[in-house]
Amino acid sequence: MKEQLEKIRQEALDALSKASDTNELDALRVRFLGKKGELTGVLKSMGKLSAEERPVMGQAANNVRAAIEEKLEEAKTALKAKALEAKLEAEAIDVTIPGDPVQLGHRHPMNKALDEAKDLFISMGFRVLDGPEVELADYNFTRLNIAENHPSRDRSDTFYITDDEKVLLRTQTSPMQIRAMDEIKKPPIRILAPGRVYRKDEVDATHSPMFHQIEGLVIDKGVTMADLKGTLETLIKAMYGEDSVIRFRPHHFPFTEPSCEVDVQCFKCRGAGCPTCKGEGWIELLGAGMVHPKVLENCDIDPEIYSGFAFGIGLERMAMRRFKISDMRMIFENDIRFLSQF
Ligand SMILES: [Zn+2]
Repeated sequence: MKEQLEKIRQEALDALSKASDTNELDALRVRFLGKKGELTGVLKSMGKLSAEERPVMGQAANNVRAAIEEKLEEAKTALKAKALEAKLEAEAIDVTIPGDPVQLGHRHPMNKALDEAKDLFISMGFRVLDGPEVELADYNFTRLNIAENHPSRDRSDTFYITDDEKVLLRTQTSPMQIRAMDEIKKPPIRILAPGRVYRKDEVDATHSPMFHQIEGLVIDKGVTMADLKGTLETLIKAMYGEDSVIRFRPHHFPFTEPSCEVDVQCFKCRGAGCPTCKGEGWIELLGAGMVHPKVLENCDIDPEIYSGFAFGIGLERMAMRRFKISDMRMIFENDIRFLSQF
């Protein structure tokens, strides 16, 4: 019987150390320690033993049971640790795998063109001003020397906010001339004022009821048309290349005298005429002129001492020419296929 116990102990410990999962451990526990198990079978046969042998064998059997139970616990713990390790391995994050790409945006072509213009004018000593889009008619028209009966004041052209037509969505950035003179008071004044303006225009390839202008104003002693020409030439050459050819054409604006429109020779046909310039050979870029003495007086600046020039550039047109965009609507539609080209 002693050999039998020893054999059970050996077999049990051997099998337990080879077990590869907890189900196997359970089966072994039943096989050796269960009610119909091998060890139980031995204990049952102890009745045949003599009274002296019985406690000795009983003690030996208990030792075997204890050894098997201990080994069983040990194997269980080892298997649990192994399972955890495998789980951690399977769930591990591989930090060397490239992540999902993040789509980064970039600046809109309008902002690019505006930033280029701002940088240039700041380098020439201009200050950039911001102003309200909801404006007083007084600033938008009256103090800019625009007569009460001027067609641009018409309700069919202008978005009025109030019925008395005293508050409106500004139709141009030129009221910033008045605001700059009111704010700075004493020349020299050198400002650039970009922003949104609103007119009752139907949407088409070259029109939108909301668009952007860049206003410029310089006032000082002895400012002449030559300063205006030099400044605008610097801008146009920076935007469209050193070889740009520029033309100044007489024009009329109520708030400048003399006034002019500035054209650049068509960069596609070099003046010969093509669809881009509608056969003209020239492309209209902006309006400008010497600040009207009445506008200076309206801002308490003495036109006998000071003179100045002003200009207004359509930012969409500038961006369209700068980036060769043929339809203004593309600028506002924000189609990602269009925007990602810049
Ligand atoms: Zn052309």
